[in-house]
Amino acid sequence: MIWVFGDYRNYFQNRVTLQLLAKARSLAEDSGALVCAVALGHGVDEYVREYIAHGADRVYVMDHPALAAYSAATFAALLAGLAKTHRPEIILVGATDFGRELAPRVARRLDTGLTADCVDLSINEDGLLKQTAPAFGGNLLAEIVTPRHRPQMATVRPGIFAELPHDDQRRGERVDAPPPDPMPADPATLVESVFAPRRDQRLEEARVVICGGRGMGSRARFRRLYELAGLLNGEVGATRPVVYAGWADHEALVGQAGRQIKPRLLFSFGISGAIQHTAAIHDAEFIIAVNKNPEAPMMKMADVAIVADAGQVSAALIKQLKERLRKHS
Ligand SMILES: Cc1cc2nc3c(=O)[nH]c(=O)nc-3n(C[C@H](O)[C@H](O)[C@H](O)COP(=O)(O)OP(=O)(O)OC[C@H]3O[C@@H](n4cnc5c(N)ncnc54)[C@H](O)[C@@H]3O)c2cc1C
Repeated sequence: MIWVFGDYRNYFQNRVTLQLLAKARSLAEDSGALVCAVALGHGVDEYVREYIAHGADRVYVMDHPALAAYSAATFAALLAGLAKTHRPEIILVGATDFGRELAPRVARRLDTGLTADCVDLSINEDGLLKQTAPAFGGNLLAEIVTPRHRPQMATVRPGIFAELPHDDQRRGERVDAPPPDPMPADPATLVESVFAPRRDQRLEEARVVICGGRGMGSRARFRRLYELAGLLNGEVGATRPVVYAGWADHEALVGQAGRQIKPRLLFSFGISGAIQHTAAIHDAEFIIAVNKNPEAPMMKMADVAIVADAGQVSAALIKQLKERLRKHS
């Protein structure tokens, strides 16, 4: 069995689990090994289906409310426990910030080796996992095998392998592992989880901007705009009340006191259209505004004005885009 740890945070941007499933499939070609994903968390059904559609034959699931937030210590204890029971030959983990915390802890618990930050993987003539990783500051590529200990463990950088196309017809098995009671403790306590938006491009240069205003209603609803921006390869902008409320950082402020933008496509969700804001969006080529109030100045300025709840329209758009992405991936 080849196991791939399911790292599903920031799912639409972080595809490393799917990339590793694809690689695991090619590693399993000769040996006929079963390719398995491991999903620890709470309410992870959606990811189970995704992993199967992207190449997993089997998904081990441990579902428990205590696993809703990622914890390196707890997840390491659970993954190591599952590995002791089911004895995979290989465990692959994405070299994300979390994966880099998790994998060494698991390797320590299983008393096996781990090659970090691999850039290639193959099976050698002895049937061992050949793990290629940069060494000596990247000047050399080392080929590493784990001949005596099991499982053979590697972390792999995101973006090295290509994921397989999504295949709705693929069938796989789901194995539910009972959560231990009590859960393994984590000496660290999660006090707060802070969302750090990824900014790939300058707001001023972005071709697609998703702007949100007070009408988004809450921080949680506003934050979904980042998901929408990710799907549209755009950036998120905000009005002043949103920045003051702490839903977005000051960098996102669009207007007289913030940034001037000139996107080809501008979404405006729950924004009234005060002059201090609109002064900065006159160069937008096409504006789609969503507001409950058809009389709002923003709606008058828009090319397409949708009278609706901004949270509902943005959520529906995200859903549609994800479905399209799935069909075309
Ligand atoms: C000197 C000065 C400088 C300023 N600089 C800036 C600046 O740079 N940028 C800036 O943005 N502002 C700036 N402002 C503030 C500006 O005047 C407005 O107060 C601000 O732009 C309003 O933000 P808003 O549209 O998010 O909120 P609101 O004006 O409160 O509008 C919220 C809108 O959401 C709609 N709505 C409510 N619920 C929903 C729902 N469920 N679904 C859909 N729509 C809904 C409402 O109908 C309303 O139109 C400045 C003000 C001053 C005095």
